[in-house]
Amino acid sequence: MSDLVIIGASYAGTQLALAARANGFAGGITMIGDEPHLPYQRPPLSKGFLRNEVDASSLPLQSPERFAEERIVLRTGVAAHRIDREACRVELSDGSDIGYGHLALTTGARCRTLACEGAGLGNVHYLRGLADACAIRDAAGRARRVAVIGGGFIGLEAAAALRSLGCEVTVVEMQERLLQRAVPPLISTFLMQAHAQQGVRLRLSSRVGRVLGQGTVEAVELESGEVIAADMVVAGLGVVPNVELARACGLAIDNGIVVDRYARTSDPDIVAAGDCASYPNPWLNGLGEGGGADAGRCVRVESIQSANDLARVAGATVSGQTVPYDAVPWFWSDQYGYKLQMVGTSNGHDHAVVRGNVESGRFTALYLRAGTLIGADSVNRPVDHMAARRLIAARVQPDPAALRDEAVALKTLMPA
Ligand code: FAD
Ligand code: NAP
Repeated sequence: MSDLVIIGASYAGTQLALAARANGFAGGITMIGDEPHLPYQRPPLSKGFLRNEVDASSLPLQSPERFAEERIVLRTGVAAHRIDREACRVELSDGSDIGYGHLALTTGARCRTLACEGAGLGNVHYLRGLADACAIRDAAGRARRVAVIGGGFIGLEAAAALRSLGCEVTVVEMQERLLQRAVPPLISTFLMQAHAQQGVRLRLSSRVGRVLGQGTVEAVELESGEVIAADMVVAGLGVVPNVELARACGLAIDNGIVVDRYARTSDPDIVAAGDCASYPNPWLNGLGEGGGADAGRCVRVESIQSANDLARVAGATVSGQTVPYDAVPWFWSDQYGYKLQMVGTSNGHDHAVVRGNVESGRFTALYLRAGTLIGADSVNRPVDHMAARRLIAARVQPDPAALRDEAVALKTLMPA
């Protein structure tokens, strides 16, 4: 019997396996992945890979040799179909099954899909995996006009990449502003101008009524009646967590597989991490350990930092350690020459300070709540971003004038 079975071979699965070994887990580890590849990096798929600047050979997260050294058995191209919690066994798509002592669910998420008329036409694309990115890159070589549906991370990064390949791009977003759920209006406006300057046409507060075409896409019709001619569609409409296996075996689900700060599901033998898991993230709810009435509320965070850090916690848990999740969340997005780096949260801020000049495309917006620094969004200011990570983790209450003053390095605001 294999001691630790991990379902889902991507960021969270790989990190969990390595963390278990780093914490002294001595039993067998098997990772089951339904994609045919070694676990690989997804961010380049909407950035350098789409622009033909990154080769697929550079994408694997770890080499086969590293997995072998760590005695991690990787079974790719095989899906887990059913979990039998009584027998502690997992049934696989190839007809075999595998027993576990500990089970980890790192099944990630899949793309939400269009439900309108014409959604099934050829050249309507979604972007989650390597196969999707290859198909988009291939189609972009032949397409002149692209309709991007969704002005979230996928939509904007794909729009930037496709624009740099010479496509005419229109972005359709149903919210009033870009990245509405992720960033405050200052950043949305900055991105809107950046895309407009690059010639991207934007349709905000707009919903797609139907996709038009005979066999393949010819146009997208908005609910307003406007028709946008398009040879291809790239839809980035958000994701749906892969919770079906967990739900079918009776684990608690609430917008994701519910886990505690030790990554434990409602079954003590099963942990979960990554995009599929919903967990109490103190930095997004309250203000870190012990802060805020909402600190215990579960959230699902769709980012690599969250997948890696919760997986480290889960790896420790299966090894018998008790290390609670307490990492400050951060993530990034690359669009054209702009590196947007986000840390903490802007939700609930009562004061914002801008450091640098927004028009120059090099600035940091810092967010305070009741005097405490809770978040920062930086554009092309990586030094500010790194300092803000430490300041937020230290729950500093800085003088807003010092935050704004570019003569004061942010790192000097760390308490001694
Ligand atoms: P996933 O990466 O979704 O992996 C889950 C794996 O489990 C998949 O391979 C899936 O096929 C497999 N699986 C599911 N069910 C089963 C089953 N029953 N049996 C076997 N295998 C199964 N985040 C950032 O922070 N920064 C970025 O710049 C960024 N860019 C991104 C760009 C793109 C194009 C995409 C798609 C995502 C990006 N993200 C980015 C988000 C980030 O990739 C995800 O948060 C991260 O991949 C989550 O990792 P995960 O291991 O939880 O899940
Ligand atoms: P997302 O960031 O959630 O954005 C999707 C956007 O599309 C939302 O604004 C959504 O509005 C809108 N939308 C949904 N349905 C629509 C419709 N029918 N018409 C027009 N707009 C519609 O999700 P995503 O961009 O698809 O990204 C998918 C996943 O990849 C996420 O987990 C994301 O975090 C991850 N990712 C991250 C990065 C990064 O961190 N740099 C880069 C790429 C991808 P509502 O909010 O109202 O639903």
